[in-house]
Amino acid sequence: MSARILEGKVFAQQFKEDAGRRAAVLREKYGVNPGLAVIIVGSNPASQVYVRNKNKACEELGIYSEVVEMPETTTKQELIAKIDELNLDRRIHGILVQLPLPAQIAKDEAEILNRIDPAKDVDGFHPVNVGRLVTGEDGLVPCTPAGCIRMLELADIPLDGKRAVVIGRSNIVGKPMLHLLLGKNATVTICHSHTENLAEITREADVLVAAIGKPNFVTADMVKPGATVIDVGINRIAPKKLVGDVDFAAVKEVAGAITPVPGGVGLLTVAMLMQNVVKAAETAACK
Ligand code: NDP
Repeated sequence: MSARILEGKVFAQQFKEDAGRRAAVLREKYGVNPGLAVIIVGSNPASQVYVRNKNKACEELGIYSEVVEMPETTTKQELIAKIDELNLDRRIHGILVQLPLPAQIAKDEAEILNRIDPAKDVDGFHPVNVGRLVTGEDGLVPCTPAGCIRMLELADIPLDGKRAVVIGRSNIVGKPMLHLLLGKNATVTICHSHTENLAEITREADVLVAAIGKPNFVTADMVKPGATVIDVGINRIAPKKLVGDVDFAAVKEVAGAITPVPGGVGLLTVAMLMQNVVKAAETAACK
C-alpha cells in the first residue's frame, strides 16, 4: 500500500493561522505588532527568492517586515553595526541574516550571527538558544526542524518511545532535530558521512529524517516498512527540477507516511518563522 503523503501546505497553513491569531491578540491586548527584519547582503538570486517569500508571509499575516539590503562589498563592521541598530529597534522582534554571506565576510559568519540579541534570534542559531534547546529550556528553535516536529505532532505520528534516525548533523537541521526528537521521548540515533552500516541503522527507524543534501540518497531498502520518512533535502537537479534526499517514488511504496519534495518540509520553514517572530514578540510584550 502506498504511504500517506504529508502535504506541507496543509500543516504550513495551520502554523500560519495560529501565528496570525496570536499576532492579532498581541495587537489588541498589548498594542504590539510583531516585526521581522531580514538582512540580505549582496545579490544571490536564491537568497532573493527566500527573502521575498518571508516578506510575503509577513504581509499575509499583517506582520511588520523590513528588508535591509546591503551591498556585496559590506564589511563585517558595517553588518554588525546594522545588527546592533536592529537589536535596539522596538518595532523589530525578529532579526535574521540571510545566508550565505558574500565570500569576504563568510568566515565571520558565527561572530556576525552571534551579535543578534538572542531574544530576537528567530533563526534559533545563537549559542544561547542552542543551549536552551539542549537543556530543554524554552527558547527560539531553528525553523526547519521545529516545523518537522510540529508537523509530526499534528499528523499524530507517535514519537514517545519510538526509534528515530536522523541522517545529517548540521547545526541548522540535524543537531536541533536530534534534540527535538529527544524532547519528545524518542530514542534517537544521528548519522553522518562517517557512519558505518548506514542502511542497517536506518532500517530500524520508526521515524527517519533525511537532511543530507544528496538527491534520492535514501532508497527503499533503507526504510522499515510502515516508517514515517521526513525528507528535508532540497536538491536542484535541473533548472526547473527539485528533488529531495529520498527516492520518493520507491520509498512511498514501503513507508507508512512520507513528505514530498517539493511541497513538503520546505513549506513548513517559512510558516514556522512566522511562529518564531510572534513568539519573540509575545516574550517581549510580556516582559
Ligand atoms: P549540510 O551540508 O550542512 O549537512 C549535510 C549532512 O549530511 C552532514 O552532516 C553530512 O555529514 C551528512 N552526509 C553527507 N553525505 C552523507 C552520506 N553519504 N551518508 C551520511 N550522511 C551524509 O546540509 P544542511 O543540514 O544544511 O541541509 C541538508 C539538506 O536540507 C540540503 O539539501 C538543504 O538544501 C536542505 N535544507 C532544507 C531546508 C528546508 O526548508 N526544507 C532548510 C535547510 C536545509 P558530515 O557532517 O559528516 O559531513
